[in-house]
Amino acid sequence: MRRKILVVEDDHALRDVLLRGLREEEFDPLPAPDGATALRLASGELAAAVLDVGLPDADGRDVCQALRAGGLTFPVIFLTAHHRLTDRLSGFSAGGDDYLPKPFHLAELAARLRAAIKRASPAHTTTAVGDVRLDAVRHRCTVGDTELALTPTEFRLLAVLMAASGDVVRRRDLVRAAWPEGARVNDNTLDQYLTRLRRKLREAGSTRGIGTARGIGHRLT
Ligand code: CA
Repeated sequence: MRRKILVVEDDHALRDVLLRGLREEEFDPLPAPDGATALRLASGELAAAVLDVGLPDADGRDVCQALRAGGLTFPVIFLTAHHRLTDRLSGFSAGGDDYLPKPFHLAELAARLRAAIKRASPAHTTTAVGDVRLDAVRHRCTVGDTELALTPTEFRLLAVLMAASGDVVRRRDLVRAAWPEGARVNDNTLDQYLTRLRRKLREAGSTRGIGTARGIGHRLT
C-alpha cells in the first residue's frame, strides 16, 4: 500500500516536482498550498508530512505545533530556505522530526521520509537532560513525576537549551528559536521568560537550572 504523505508547499512549481517525485518513489502525496489547508487535510491516516517553513498564511513551525497539539504524531520533515542551526533547533522544538534545506534532491527527501517513518515510535519523541524530560510530540515537560505547565515559548526556550547539552546558547539565538521570525523581543522580555522557566524548574524540584554567561548567553546547568 502506498503511504500517504501530506505535502505543504506554496510554491507551485516545487509542489508539482514534489508530487511527481514522491509518486515515482511509491508514495501517495496529498498536496496543500498553505497552513490552513494542511490543518484541514491532516489526519491519523498520514504516514508523514513534508512541511515548508515559509508559508503564505503561517510559519510552518506553528503549523507543526498545531498538528501536535491536535494529537497527530506522524513524522514531519521541514523544508526551508534557511540552514542556520537555530532554525533547525526551532524546527525540532516545534515537534519536527527532520529538516532539509532547499535546494535538495528528491531521492534524499524520499530516503529521509522512509527513515523518519521507520523511526516513528514513542521511544524517539522524548529527550532528557538530567531529571528534565521533554516530549516533543505531546508537548510535555516533566521533572520526575511532576509535569511542568509551560507556555509554547517557554517550551521552545527549554528545548533549545537542552539541545545544546550544557553549552552556552547566545541570547539572540534563543530569541530566534523561541519566537516567530521578525518578532520584537527585548532583553527584558527574554529575561522574564528565563526567570519564569527557572522558577518552574525549581518548584518542580529539578536539579537543573539555567545559568548566565554574562554578555554572551545562557546554558542549562
Ligand atoms: Ca514557501
